Amino acid sequence: MSDIQPSGLHHVTAITTDPQANVDFYTGRLGLRLVKQTVNFDAPDAYHLYYGDTAGTPSSLITFFAWPGAPRGRHGAGMMTSTAFSIPPGSLGWWHERLQTAGVDVDEPQERGAEDVLTFRDPNGMVIDLVASEGDTRSGWDGVADIPSEHAVRGLYAATLSEQQLDPSAAMLVDLLGMTVQTDEGGRTRFAMEAGAPGSLVDVQAGVKERGRQSAGTVHHVAFRAPDLDTMTRWQSELLERGVRVTEILDRQYFKSIYFREPGGVLFEIATDQPGFATDEPLLELGRHLKLPPWLEPNRAQIQASLPALHLPPQPAEPA
Ligand code: ZN
Repeated sequence: MSDIQPSGLHHVTAITTDPQANVDFYTGRLGLRLVKQTVNFDAPDAYHLYYGDTAGTPSSLITFFAWPGAPRGRHGAGMMTSTAFSIPPGSLGWWHERLQTAGVDVDEPQERGAEDVLTFRDPNGMVIDLVASEGDTRSGWDGVADIPSEHAVRGLYAATLSEQQLDPSAAMLVDLLGMTVQTDEGGRTRFAMEAGAPGSLVDVQAGVKERGRQSAGTVHHVAFRAPDLDTMTRWQSELLERGVRVTEILDRQYFKSIYFREPGGVLFEIATDQPGFATDEPLLELGRHLKLPPWLEPNRAQIQASLPALHLPPQPAEPA
C-alpha cells in the first residue's frame, strides 16, 4: 500500500476560448465567485481564471485557461469528461428552470444510480453536472443577487474520467492514491477518497473506445489535495519510487503542485491547500484585479497588453 492519501479534489482546470463569456457563465449563471484573475504561468499571454466559493477553498475550484481561437475539443477516452458540482437536495428543479430560462444547453433532470443529476454544457460545450447531495455542509458563495443562498452551488462533487479500460486506472486510484471503490453500477465505478464526502469522489466510465482530443470545452487536468508541502514532497518521492513519471514541485503561487499521468492518459495534479488565494490580495477583493506572481511582475505591461479587458460582475458589497 501507498502512503499517498489525497483528502479530496482540489480543482479542475479546463480550456475555454472566450474569457468574458467564461466569467459571465461561471459567475453570472452558476453563481461561483471569480477568486483569481491571473495568467497561465507556463504561457503568460493567456488568462488563467479561478472560480470557487467565498475564499476559493480547495475542492470548490474550477479554473480555465483562455485560449482564443482554440478549436472545439472532443470528449473521449483518456480524459476527464464531466465535472460535477454539489447542490442542496431539493434545488435541482430550481436550477433546471434557471438554466433553461437563460438558454443554457441543459438536459432534463435524471436519476443516476441513487443520485438526482442535472447535466448541462457551458458555452464551449464543457459538460457540467449538478448533483443533489445530502449532507454537504459547505456553504458555497452567496454573492450573486438572483441565486438564493439555499440553492447555491456548494463546491465540486465528483470528477468523471472516461477510459478505454478500467483496471489500469483503477489500480492507480486504489493502490497508489489510496482510494476505495464505493459503487460499481451502470458502467460507472466510483472511487472515494477518505469517507467519500462530496468533493472527494472520482467516477470512471470504462469501455469508451474513441480517444478524446484536448482543446476548447475539455478538461486539461484534475488536481487532488495535499495538506501541506512536506506531505506532498513525501508523496512525490513515493510516486518516483513506484515508477511514476512525476514533475518537479512547481510554485503555482496559490499552491505548490506536482503533475503526472494516470495509465489511461488523464493528467493528474497534486496541489497543496496552502497558501490559498488571499496570499496576494485581500479576501474582499479576490478576483477584481489581474494578479501576477513575482517572477512575472516585471513583464506586467506587456502581459496586460496581450489580454482582452474583462468586465466583472459587481461585488455584492460594493455600492451600485
Ligand atoms: Zn491545476
